[in-house]
Amino acid sequence: MTRNFFVGGNWKMNGSLSQVNSLVEILNNASVPSNTEVVVAPPAIYIDRVRQAVKKEIEVAAQNCYYKASGAFTGEISPEQLKDMGINWVIIGHSERREIFGESDDFVGAKTQYALSAGLGVIACIGEKLDERESGKTEEVCFRQLKAIAEHVKDWSHVVVAYEPVWAIGTGKVATPEQAQETHAALRKWLAENVSKEAANNTRILYGGSVNGKNAAELGKKEDIDGFLVGGASLKPEFADIIAASS
Ligand code: PGA
Repeated sequence: MTRNFFVGGNWKMNGSLSQVNSLVEILNNASVPSNTEVVVAPPAIYIDRVRQAVKKEIEVAAQNCYYKASGAFTGEISPEQLKDMGINWVIIGHSERREIFGESDDFVGAKTQYALSAGLGVIACIGEKLDERESGKTEEVCFRQLKAIAEHVKDWSHVVVAYEPVWAIGTGKVATPEQAQETHAALRKWLAENVSKEAANNTRILYGGSVNGKNAAELGKKEDIDGFLVGGASLKPEFADIIAASS
């Protein structure tokens, strides 16, 4: 298997300057296994600070971006601006963007296309809500969201898919390794059938939703789980354990 492990930290709208400095210290002291890629996504205002202070084995991402290069788009950041500041990754389609800020599948697809064309790597998020899981629609929802992204991707080498069941995000209710593996395997099969065998074999599929220092190792052992997108625990010293757990 050629897929390197990938651990993303999504800080969301958390932290102060002093907390950001402490997190950078934790990251700089963390040992990063050679087969693991680590990418942290601070709030926009701290991105450059983190990029300058963090060791080079750790990459920095934005939590969002727009799909134009520049112009009258108050409050937005363009992929070109991120590249200009040495940022190589962006999270797109997080469930909080979809739910709270009303981002549609099409919008997520358009942003993915633009970010890739501007040279960013994209952590593309998908995942079902609790009522969707309970009514047996997990695959239907995830496939629909993945299709809206896949339609805009030519080169999958710069895309990482994050499967994040919404009911597991920030709730402490983690998917069991078996539940996560089942959906990851289904997503990989979808990629094989609808994109290519190569994309299915090579694309990292991350699990996200209440990952912590204790459950990471067991989740990470599953065949189709290639890493994590971590929220709450990425703001704590245990993030170093999650990075280490993946080796
Ligand atoms: P959580 O968030 O780890 O706090 O559940 C994950 C995410 O939203 O990416």
